[in-house]
Amino acid sequence: MEDLYQILGVDRGASQDDIKRAYRALVRRYHPDTHRNDKDAEEKFKKVNAAYSVLGDAAKRARYDQYGTDSGSATFDGDLSDLFGGFGGFGGFGGFGDILFGSARRANPSAPKRGANIEARVSLTLVEAAKGLNRLVEVSRWSTCKTCGGTGAKPGTSPKVCPQCGGSGQVRVAQRTVFGQFLSVSPCPSCGGKGKVIEEKCASCKGSGRVLETHKIEVKIPAGVDRGTRLQLHGEGEAGLNGGPAGDLIITIDVGHMKGFEREGADLHTSLVLTYPQAVLGATIEVPTLIDGNEMLEVPQGTVHGAMLRVKGKGMPRLRGSWALSERGDLVVHVTVDIPKKLTEKQRALVVELAGEMQSPVAAGEEGFFDKVRKLF
Ligand SMILES: [Zn+2]
Ligand SMILES: [Zn+2]
Repeated sequence: MEDLYQILGVDRGASQDDIKRAYRALVRRYHPDTHRNDKDAEEKFKKVNAAYSVLGDAAKRARYDQYGTDSGSATFDGDLSDLFGGFGGFGGFGGFGDILFGSARRANPSAPKRGANIEARVSLTLVEAAKGLNRLVEVSRWSTCKTCGGTGAKPGTSPKVCPQCGGSGQVRVAQRTVFGQFLSVSPCPSCGGKGKVIEEKCASCKGSGRVLETHKIEVKIPAGVDRGTRLQLHGEGEAGLNGGPAGDLIITIDVGHMKGFEREGADLHTSLVLTYPQAVLGATIEVPTLIDGNEMLEVPQGTVHGAMLRVKGKGMPRLRGSWALSERGDLVVHVTVDIPKKLTEKQRALVVELAGEMQSPVAAGEEGFFDKVRKLF
């Protein structure tokens, strides 16, 4: 069972206000509206809500602190069936002895702990993805309180070993039941499981040693990133606990669509419409590229409808470190030959003449060409 305080990234001693603030920041961060089809974020969003439904309610929180659950009665950390399976083996009531449950597996509360990773999203246009840029990314994160240096104690004082638990952070409570004596291990109510008590709290962080801050981090986004590219910034995540290292900031890139260009890896695809004389005779045609202005494209004679012409090196940059022959992909131009529905009288006459020259039988036109010819005689 994951610790609800850890899910919200707050200290056991956090005030209800701190919990609410942390909850709101996390809900903003993992909200499904900004993470469509992101299972990870959805999972986190659910966990955050579940954790807040307990810790956000002072009465439920108190029960959770005492029993490690909010159900109002003690439960096992593991599977309940294990208990009854074991019980059967003893052959009846009374053979149970002392059973340790609750948070017996909790790690040493004062051990250094790495801060959590923070996830953020950056949306770019296709042009921005092609050029790369520096983007200010705003994240809310728990940072080490600068006033107390993370101890939570008022500057000039230091935390003392908790007199109730002697620094272990745990208290054991014996309960007699029909099954025998249960020994329940709970976080120490005096120190909240930390093993230390702060006599005079730091005013800035109210004793938690961490403060929720909005940071703007300038992130260098390299040219060539694609939808789903993840950038990992070491040490830019949540502050660690008890001197542990900070987590990472993980940025997922989203790249928008752009009319006229379709991306496929490092290649960009675009389309070009030719008249049939251009397709037959060839031409030099100006085509727009994404970031290099217009390029002159040589259309060879006899270019067919559906042909693909390549403008080398005018596609997307490849991310550095990826294996590639060239630094950039190509612009792939898909040719469409336009067959006009309407012709002028002269165009029609020329095409009919061409048809005669090529000895290809053609239909009478909608304007009754042969009728017109017949009228002439
Ligand atoms: Zn402080
Ligand atoms: Zn204690």
